[in-house]
Amino acid sequence: MKGRSRCDHCGTQLAAADLVPIFSYAWLRGKCRYCKQPIGGSALYIEIAAALIGAISAMGLDGFQAFAAAVFGWLLLPLGVLDYQRLWLPNRLVLLLAFGGVLIAPLLTPDISWMDRVAGGLFGFLALEGARHAFKALRKKEGMGGGDPKLFGALGIWMGWQALPYLLMLSCVVGFAWVLFSTKTERTGTTQLPFGIFLCVSAFALCFSI
Ligand SMILES: [Zn+2]
Repeated sequence: MKGRSRCDHCGTQLAAADLVPIFSYAWLRGKCRYCKQPIGGSALYIEIAAALIGAISAMGLDGFQAFAAAVFGWLLLPLGVLDYQRLWLPNRLVLLLAFGGVLIAPLLTPDISWMDRVAGGLFGFLALEGARHAFKALRKKEGMGGGDPKLFGALGIWMGWQALPYLLMLSCVVGFAWVLFSTKTERTGTTQLPFGIFLCVSAFALCFSI
């Protein structure tokens, strides 16, 4: 979140040549130039995902709208990855998404009015926050992470309140598919699922049809 990129193992600050997406990884054969420890596959997968987001945006939309879709996807990518890896949606990244929505979303979804965006932000946050508290009161345990309502609200700014029911439904479908095709066999009522990544994937897919 701050400072220059460093090797996870030896802490050496990385030079520009070490940070060229995909190419540096391939050139260094997945190992740190300085300590020769493996970089880890997720860096490469994230770079490939970022390239795909750009390519899909360029193919699906034109001009500024394509640019805005790519920015939307790139803001969602670290949120989805961190939710998947750590079940963590950092407030600062959700805020960046919300702020980006205020600046860039009008390019992506020009037909959505500011009233609809404000309503989307409020309604999105309150709907999931309400569901979270209701579940907690009824079942005496956490049913949802605290970051999900904030993320849903930020997405409401991007897409307007009208898109939120579809977004929620699609996220659930993606979540069910995740559980069905997941290789982990053990699942109980207390297994934690990264709902944030389902929201991120669904929001990026839906933004092409608004
Ligand atoms: Zn190193």
